[in-house]
Amino acid sequence: MSTVKDLTHLLSDEAKSRRNSPLKTAFKYFNDPNVVFLGGGLPLSDYFPWNKITVESPAPPFKNGIGATPSTAEEKIITEVSKNAAENSRSDDIPLSRSLQYGHTGGQPELLNFLREHTQLIHKIPYSEWDIIQSIGNTQSWDGVLRTFTNRGDTILVEDFSFPSALETANALGVIQFPIPTDDFGIIPEKLAETLDNWVGAKPKLLYTIPTGQNPLGSSLSADRRKAIYKIAQKHDFIIIEDEPYYFLQMDTYTKDVEARQGKAVHSHKQFIDALVTSFISIDTEGRVVRLDSFSKVLAPGTRFGWIVAQKELLQSIIKLHETSIQSASGFSSSIINGLLNRWGQDGYIDWLIGLRAEYTHKRDVAIDAIEKYFPKQVTHYNPPVAGMFFTVQFDASKHPNFATEFDSDPLKVETALYEKGLDAGALLIPGSWFTAKGQTNPPQKPQPVDEATKNHIFFRGTYAAVPLDQLVLGLERFGKAAHQEFGL
Ligand code: PLP
Repeated sequence: MSTVKDLTHLLSDEAKSRRNSPLKTAFKYFNDPNVVFLGGGLPLSDYFPWNKITVESPAPPFKNGIGATPSTAEEKIITEVSKNAAENSRSDDIPLSRSLQYGHTGGQPELLNFLREHTQLIHKIPYSEWDIIQSIGNTQSWDGVLRTFTNRGDTILVEDFSFPSALETANALGVIQFPIPTDDFGIIPEKLAETLDNWVGAKPKLLYTIPTGQNPLGSSLSADRRKAIYKIAQKHDFIIIEDEPYYFLQMDTYTKDVEARQGKAVHSHKQFIDALVTSFISIDTEGRVVRLDSFSKVLAPGTRFGWIVAQKELLQSIIKLHETSIQSASGFSSSIINGLLNRWGQDGYIDWLIGLRAEYTHKRDVAIDAIEKYFPKQVTHYNPPVAGMFFTVQFDASKHPNFATEFDSDPLKVETALYEKGLDAGALLIPGSWFTAKGQTNPPQKPQPVDEATKNHIFFRGTYAAVPLDQLVLGLERFGKAAHQEFGL
């Protein structure tokens, strides 16, 4: 028996007013051998100036690491995809005549099949009426989700510090982003419950969260917190949007003991899958989670390929939006990614993700070792990330010797001074206040009581993902010295 809830009452006016195009209904006859199809405005694939694409990639099991350039023939995989299906060596390739043509708004069947199998392997979704549609990355998925569920003036819940581009997308659509308090481990479920139990006016329809490797906080929600948040979503009838580009950048927990690190590394597929944190979609019994996945951080951002996992009924509304906006993901991307993934197989893809895990674990370790070494312990706090690309370092601004005098007891003034001091020293970390979510409803919700213990805390966000390791250490050494100077230590 289905446990999926009908959540169509949460759809936006825009989504409710989208109609099925009558032209689309005619397309089911496109491949019917008994019908001479004169109905479509499709260019003839004979005139597509690509007969074949050939790409070279590393082959599993990537034993020299995922960054190594393949040298021998065994270390390479050649993906060749032709225009015509008959010329392709594999029946699961997407011929260019199809991928470069109009159509398949939901996604090319071969690639969707791979992703469905992958999703089931990783998330084991507890209801059957789920599906996947393609997108052009989580940036676009989020825009589509907002248009599908929210009207101008609606409120959504967000982490109190969040990804500026996601907040700006909501802002431009006139959607209020109401902040929920977080700590080192992400959203605090008790605070979320309290906020909603006391909510004044129309309830929020969505919670937008980056549960794993949060941007900017670097935090990850535990399975217990996710379960608690899911229960709150059931009680207050909102949808959870899990924006998860960093899901597979999960790492072993940090240890200062260099020798113990080796023992923590994940090797087998089972170990890897078991070590992944419980996703919201994997505990979603009612179909109230919309999961946004992307190849940006695991393959390459320029693939511009993502996918949305949710209950089928809700996906239909997003497909209707895609029919009149993006139409589909890039055909080249679809053929190339599908060709590679099917040659790697599910196992080869997991090998790749295990390789990524090892790379990011090492980068994170180097960053945290440097923070340990160079930052003034008396005034800082950090929580080594277990996922994602970001670390944060918190400072207690009230410990600045001139806090009350030069800075009028304003932590943000200390933040600016420290940012500038870091820049002068030749290191840039991003001030945490730049990520603040500030929305308030009308009438306003009751303000959160001021937490005396943390009210003067500021933080800076850095990444270990994008720089060579010697530069990473140099940058942190410089910033750490600047912090010593600024705090007179
Ligand atoms: N969501 C979050 C939280 C991000 O940090 C980013 C990239 O920085 C994105 C989405 C963008 O993802 P995509 O490249 O899939 O659009």
